[in-house]
Amino acid sequence: MDRAPVLQDLKGVGQKLEETLARLNINSFEDLLFHFPFRFEDRTRITPIRQLRLKQLAVVDAEIISSNLLYGKRRSLSIGLRDDSGVCFMRLFHFNKSQANQLANARFIRVIGEPRLGSQGLEFYHPEYRIYSDVENAPPLESNLTPVYPSCEGLSSKRISVLIEQALKTLDKFPQYSLLPNVFFKSKEQVSLNQMLRTIHRPQSWDAASLLSEGMHPFQKQLALEELVAHSLSAQTKKLPNNNQALPLQFDKKLHENFVKQLPFSLTHAQQKVIQEVSEAMSTQQAMRRLIQGDVGSGKTLVAASIALQVLQQDQQVALMVPTEILAEQHAQNFSTWFEAFGIEVISVLGKQGKKQRSELLERIASDKPCMVIGTHALFQKDVNFNKLGLVIIDEQHRFGVHQRLALNEKAKDITPHQLIMTATPIPRTLAMTIYGDLDFSVIDELPPGRTPVKTVLIDNARRKEVIERVSANCKEGAQAYWVCTLIEESESLEAKAAEELFQQLQQQLPQQKLALIHGRLKNEEKSAVIDAFRKGAVDVLVATTVIEVGVDIPNANIMVIENPERLGLAQLHQLRGRVGRGAKESFCVLLYESPLGQLAKQRLGVMRDSNDGFVIAEKDLEIRGPGEVMGTRQAGMALFKVADLLRDADLLEQARELAVEILANEPEKVPLFLNRWLGVKQFYGDVA
Ligand code: ADP
Ligand code: MG
Repeated sequence: MDRAPVLQDLKGVGQKLEETLARLNINSFEDLLFHFPFRFEDRTRITPIRQLRLKQLAVVDAEIISSNLLYGKRRSLSIGLRDDSGVCFMRLFHFNKSQANQLANARFIRVIGEPRLGSQGLEFYHPEYRIYSDVENAPPLESNLTPVYPSCEGLSSKRISVLIEQALKTLDKFPQYSLLPNVFFKSKEQVSLNQMLRTIHRPQSWDAASLLSEGMHPFQKQLALEELVAHSLSAQTKKLPNNNQALPLQFDKKLHENFVKQLPFSLTHAQQKVIQEVSEAMSTQQAMRRLIQGDVGSGKTLVAASIALQVLQQDQQVALMVPTEILAEQHAQNFSTWFEAFGIEVISVLGKQGKKQRSELLERIASDKPCMVIGTHALFQKDVNFNKLGLVIIDEQHRFGVHQRLALNEKAKDITPHQLIMTATPIPRTLAMTIYGDLDFSVIDELPPGRTPVKTVLIDNARRKEVIERVSANCKEGAQAYWVCTLIEESESLEAKAAEELFQQLQQQLPQQKLALIHGRLKNEEKSAVIDAFRKGAVDVLVATTVIEVGVDIPNANIMVIENPERLGLAQLHQLRGRVGRGAKESFCVLLYESPLGQLAKQRLGVMRDSNDGFVIAEKDLEIRGPGEVMGTRQAGMALFKVADLLRDADLLEQARELAVEILANEPEKVPLFLNRWLGVKQFYGDVA
């Protein structure tokens, strides 16, 4: 092969898998290699049952000594396990007959999982397992530490690991060099990229593995720096596509007034100010690229809508991209209502639409009629052809990567669309300059009036019963509640299972309330049916995973219970909490923690209790977040970077900027290498130097 490898060169990667990979922000061969494990498991040795520790992953080889159906709250299958050192159990809640038979008749079993304290002592709930017939035939153990990758529905960590192994082998044929001199480790020779990547994906020692899972390994730091330099370079070169001719907007004041008149409230000063800033920026032929920051609930949607309307009335099309289908549908409903009086068509492009419907919609998008198009990243798939795209709006920007933003841009034909990018995630100034050097900023620094701030309380899970009683009592008075189940978003299916269990439990504990369940494994139409029912008040308590984190706007819901809040980053907690406190009623957020809480966790949850201000929370988070405490940052939506972590690597920003300045001055020929490797958007930047 004499060209650079691409994803499709890997065995088993076709269009379908590529689409799934894209959900993890893996859009290229490089992206895959930079998809790092977030922790490692030790499956290299057997742990005697006596030495099992609660909630610590272990591999057990045992003899099966019993098999019983238990009829407790839920039917389950309990398998007794014994080795030379002791006895424990494996418990299945979901199983079929043949599985039960097979287990009852088997002699030996290899179990891999985390034991918990169950009713019979130490129990493995739904562990991975393999049965075998005699001791000589025990399955082989892993020879290396097992990496655990961020995964998603339809793509397990294991599968990703296999792909990465292939990618690493392929890469061996294309030795790649690190683009910067070694900064974080002493080595006379330049360490190759290949070598760094192999260490990061396949560490040989626990020491290396634990540094890696803390994000503190020198190779990780080195690559993070390289990535930040790349972003800084792209910001500093600020190259726009060559044809960056935009259509100047002529702001129609009368139109704006008519739009505002139909709303049940008036705009806040901050909203008005930002609308004015944006429309001024759009009044020239230079394409606008502007980031609107505004805390959760500050009313960014309306700002976007009022600007969109202006563009639409000038016979242009507008595309609004959002991270989830739930949000797409919600926006589509709102925009339809707001735009109805102006005769503007709102089209939503959703995954659940059939082929026929989709092609009909695409036809309309390709026609010369102005329309408002709303969808997920499905919007920039190849078959979507806009006729005259004047404005691109991206909501919840922190959920998207840089190239997705740029890819939508590419949809434009002869004019460059203006870009409006919205986020509720506050970004420190230095950082903003590094990564968003090509953007201007507007801030909505005021919430709509009449909101009572959400009252946040910390309650020990031991007092769960009281919380349930409160929720029950409040629901009887017409309140609606979210009950959020958190799990490290390692696997959608585990998370769904946990939510399912919680749902059944709560259903028994809240017999008089109508409950519904929503999680990532539901089909999109199922999700929207549940949200609809909740919106209409047909559901009192919505049990949910963090799928409801962004955008969902149901003002009557005024209670949120978050289980194990200590597992989430503060930014994510703030986003979640933003689902309540949207109406006039007093709202509550209950952080239902599992004690004992560590010192740091206590401090962080304390910040949540004491502040409702996203900016304050972000700052505090940076302040108190130790380097080991990186969990959740990726999930909190820092999808912007492949390797670098905004919070963890904040100290590298300044250095990255300086390096970028030097490179631009002394080695400009290197710039495309950086952009290519890290941004993969060569076509947008052209030959920069
Ligand atoms: P976010 O900035 O988080 O995207 P939204 O745009 O979803 O916030 O707005 C949150 C809620 O506030 C919505 O129900 C919206 O209708 C309402 N809202 C927006 N602007 C105003 C305003 N000026 N006065 C009162 N309510 C408003
Ligand atoms: Mg929003």
